[in-house]
Amino acid sequence: MFEKILIANRGEIALRVLRACRELGIRTVAVHSEADTEAKYVKLADESVCIGPAPSGLSYLNVPAIISAAEVTDAEAIHPGYGFLSENADFAERVEQSGFVFIGPRPDTIRLMGDKVSAKDAMKAAGVPCVPGSEGALPDDPKEIVKIARAVGYPVIIKAAGGGGGRGMRVVHTEAALLNAVTTTRSEAGAAFGNPVVYMEKYLENPRHVEIQVLADQHGNAVYLGERDCSMQRRHQKVIEEAPAPGIERRLIARIGERCAEACRKIGYRGAGTFEFLYENGEFYFIEMNTRVQVEHPVTEMITGVDIVQAQVRIAAGEKLWFKQRDIEFRGHSIECRINAEDPFKFTPSPGRITNWHTPGGPGIRVDSHVYNGYTVPPHYDSMIGKLIAYGDTREQAIRRMRIALSEMAVSGIKTNVPLHQELMLDARFIEGGTSIHYLEHKLADRNEVKKA
Ligand code: ADP
Repeated sequence: MFEKILIANRGEIALRVLRACRELGIRTVAVHSEADTEAKYVKLADESVCIGPAPSGLSYLNVPAIISAAEVTDAEAIHPGYGFLSENADFAERVEQSGFVFIGPRPDTIRLMGDKVSAKDAMKAAGVPCVPGSEGALPDDPKEIVKIARAVGYPVIIKAAGGGGGRGMRVVHTEAALLNAVTTTRSEAGAAFGNPVVYMEKYLENPRHVEIQVLADQHGNAVYLGERDCSMQRRHQKVIEEAPAPGIERRLIARIGERCAEACRKIGYRGAGTFEFLYENGEFYFIEMNTRVQVEHPVTEMITGVDIVQAQVRIAAGEKLWFKQRDIEFRGHSIECRINAEDPFKFTPSPGRITNWHTPGGPGIRVDSHVYNGYTVPPHYDSMIGKLIAYGDTREQAIRRMRIALSEMAVSGIKTNVPLHQELMLDARFIEGGTSIHYLEHKLADRNEVKKA
């Protein structure tokens, strides 16, 4: 096992990784920007190194500074968390070339999955069901493009191979709009991602977002840890996640989960990963793979008892998976609410000093947050300041516990989206379960209508 790990991230996930390391008896190095000097995990870490000023381009994305920090502290491995450099194949390569272990997949796997066209090709070849669409990238010939769209059937969606974060996509409803949309998406993708390659998919009108968590070791073993439903989204950002996904047959999950595990074995995947699917009319359609730990990993931990972050570390250290698929039991239900420092109605960020921070507790409640009384939320980063996770024997119990937890949560000095979560935990359609990825947007639009009236 490693003796010392450098955590190349900030916020709640830096604290989460730190806690996992401590339990494994591993010393930690926190790297931080000038804006995060006072952060809790920086104080808790065995060592800390300031890697630059507040803007993330100069600190959390500053590869030479991070590598030097690992060198001067004698760290053996680097955990990238999520976001920032976590899915940057060049960073992973630099880490390994500098003699450190990258806690994640091999750089070439990250590269393969980072290009959505090659990712889809690889998944199709491995037997994972994908959204019907173009065979690989769209050709230049306009006549060919029109032909492909007719075969796929409208509406279609044009997507950038290098896209991410919900950007670089355009829905097309008619043939008349097709070629313009392809041209625009291509030039936008070229400018934004440095890669003008686009592909086409059938546009699914009312899907749910259901993803499969996998773990794979370096010895050819892979398991799936079930699914998460992350359909409650605003602007393609997940707001609430839960496991298991309401109303989906367990046999179907087992089948798709096994396909994902098999795909991992085929491509020699290493570490934790997530296969993202759209789910519509009882069918799963692969859209992309995330080659890192996800924000929403705790709901899976709650229902399986597997510590995903520790698993990442142990796998990176070369351990064989210490359990088999049949050993994994799915028990109960878990829901996560992402707590953001933002206005709960207008969604504008609300950074600043937290004058009172009181978190809930009790049976089945977990709070993953780096925030404390008197902490100042810097304006430079993502607005998520923590996650509230509830567990229950049933979904109903998890919802009830979440309602109580939200009512106990007291935050002053900044605004948070806690009121939105309280509203959603009482929402009839949410309580019923199985809403589509458009549900929250529609609900928020209705809420604005009511306010105007
Ligand atoms: P990103 O990497 O930018 O997150 P994804 O491929 O994961 O891109 O797609 C992001 C979101 O866009 C999906 O969660 C879904 O809401 C929508 N989307 C993507 N592809 C389709 C599709 N074929 N049909 C309907 N919606 C889609």
